[in-house]
Amino acid sequence: MSLFQNDAFPDPAKGEPFLLTPGPLTTALSVKEAMLRDWGSWDGDFRAMTKSVCDQLLALAGDTGDFVCVPMQGSGSYCVEAMLGTFVPRDGKVLVLANGAYGQRAAETMRYLGRANTVINKGDYMPPRGDEVAEALQADPLITHVMAIHCETSSGILNPIDEISEATYGAGRKLLIDSMSAFGAIDLDVGRIRYEAMVSSANKCIEGVPGFGFVIARKSELEECQGHSHSLVLDVYAQWANMQKTGQWRYTPPTHVVAAFLEALRLHAQEGGVAGRCARYTKNRDVMVAGMRALGFETLLKDRWLSPIIVTFFCPADPRFVFNEFYERMKAKGFIIYPGKLTVVESFRIGCIGRMDSAVMTRVVKAAGECLADMGVTSAAPPAEALIERAKLAA
Ligand SMILES: *Cc1c(COP(=O)(O)O)cnc(C)c1O
Repeated sequence: MSLFQNDAFPDPAKGEPFLLTPGPLTTALSVKEAMLRDWGSWDGDFRAMTKSVCDQLLALAGDTGDFVCVPMQGSGSYCVEAMLGTFVPRDGKVLVLANGAYGQRAAETMRYLGRANTVINKGDYMPPRGDEVAEALQADPLITHVMAIHCETSSGILNPIDEISEATYGAGRKLLIDSMSAFGAIDLDVGRIRYEAMVSSANKCIEGVPGFGFVIARKSELEECQGHSHSLVLDVYAQWANMQKTGQWRYTPPTHVVAAFLEALRLHAQEGGVAGRCARYTKNRDVMVAGMRALGFETLLKDRWLSPIIVTFFCPADPRFVFNEFYERMKAKGFIIYPGKLTVVESFRIGCIGRMDSAVMTRVVKAAGECLADMGVTSAAPPAEALIERAKLAA
């Protein structure tokens, strides 16, 4: 029996496509329906909802009492900025590990904050490895924190966070993680991987709607962070201190989004938590990648580095393949795909997350095959440069 038996899937005839994008993504009908009532932010019922959200998120992180969860208004990037501004002291220095757009954004955030930072830039997708982190930390004793991206959504690579954590703590420094597109589907258990704080948001693997994010942080660390923040509204310490005292968010919370998120958490638990969600996304990816490869498409990454979150494909070399046309044709069939972010060769991305199962992924592949045929593309093989590029990546 399908998990989605009772779901009303988006109806392309009504103009609502599946979102094969890494958030906002396709949500369950019951998640959308949870927004059909109003809540007073001060009221005890809503305060209990906030507490339940935090308790459930801490359980997902495997916390046994050492960590706290602080929700923050805004999209994921607001929460990344909040985390960096709060956890890095003004005289701290951050080593940012970048292999794509989100690592670059973290480095740019540090520049806006006006705090010392240095970047290991691995280009479009090469993974930062533990040994180079160790080397960089050894070379620069001023570095206090390492900032890593868990799943770099711009290529879909799953970065080796365990290696990075070991190198960071091996050198006596502290790790901050952007696990935006991984948390809830990829294990980030605090008992297994050491870090001080991580950030994720409502509209990724928990499958809520956009409107807030959350920081999960070691309590003893957060307690030392008073006065670090450059920003009133993005001060994680102040938000936490206020919530401790009153059970309330400091400023207007996105009440409907929180209600929807609670329903999304219920569905997440029903599916078997992190393991269950990881299993569904992995199957989505495997069915989709196998089907696309059968059509002749090639993935940017070798299998070892593919995340079950989003997959980058090279655009075919055939001059009849024009991405914008492919996009519009896929949309007309009910599927929104995502442009690529590689600087070297043309690419596009297909997400595996959201309220979709492998039956939907089979339809995605079928639609892609039809679009190629309609465009007169006879081979989906990428240009030779693309494969030379990929060969640089270790298996
Ligand atoms: C989605 C995402 C973000 C946040 O992006 P917003 O557009 O601000 O929600 C940050 N980091 C990663 C890795 C992401 O996937």
